[in-house]
Amino acid sequence: MRKFLIAGNWKMNLTGAESARLARELAAQLPSGCPAETAVIPALVHLQAVRREIADTPIKLGAQNVCWEKKGAFTGEVSAAMLKEIGVAFVLVGHSERRHIIGETDPLLNKKTRAVIDEGLTVILCVGERLEERQGNQTMAVIGRQINASLAGVAPQAVAKEQVVIAYEPVWAIGTGLTATPRQAQEVHAFIRARLGELYGPEAAETIRIQYGGSVKKANAGELLTQPDIDGLLVGGASLAADEFIGIVQAARTAGTDRAVAIG
Ligand code: PEP
Repeated sequence: MRKFLIAGNWKMNLTGAESARLARELAAQLPSGCPAETAVIPALVHLQAVRREIADTPIKLGAQNVCWEKKGAFTGEVSAAMLKEIGVAFVLVGHSERRHIIGETDPLLNKKTRAVIDEGLTVILCVGERLEERQGNQTMAVIGRQINASLAGVAPQAVAKEQVVIAYEPVWAIGTGLTATPRQAQEVHAFIRARLGELYGPEAAETIRIQYGGSVKKANAGELLTQPDIDGLLVGGASLAADEFIGIVQAARTAGTDRAVAIG
């Protein structure tokens, strides 16, 4: 059974002291025996401060960005090996803000994905359609293209080692207060799983976690997690408040128990 992954993307928010404080609060409030995996993804410059606060807790560390190359003359970049050295487990690749504001392309995202995997880390590969693409019935075409391009050359062994997580994040739902309905999200998640089945075989596809992201908060988390192909949540704004993020983790705990009972 796929374990829920609840991850908080703090984006370019919080000072070092604020990041450490939030991490400390989360570490103290995380429900014990929680079956969901949790991760926080602070700004790169605050990774070390956050790591100190979550050491010896089940909370894992994620990074918001990585260089596609292993080392060398890439001023301002940070390699996957550097991230691994300071305890990072997950790396976001393909977030819509990097695709659409920074201008990262599918071929570059493919190189980043492979750099993360080659270092033994887990990629959270974000995919999602823009509003005009949804309105033009292009959603599945866009998502299919992003999945194929980003995962080109990623070996089945990486999937078997659970080094690939997909995050479906409709661009129109990120930071807007608009959330995909559970039904809309499930439809795309099922499509993604089918596409992963074409790439890696249906059995492997069943093991890959697919998160939903886009204006998730504690009030809507539980409903989204009742969907059979939603295996966790990538949370932006709501992850900046400890009580909201812990509320989302608690919703995952309840939904995870229900899913386990349903599967038997
Ligand atoms: C995100 O940035 O990944 C995200 C989902 O943001 P928000 O929850 O604020 O919509």
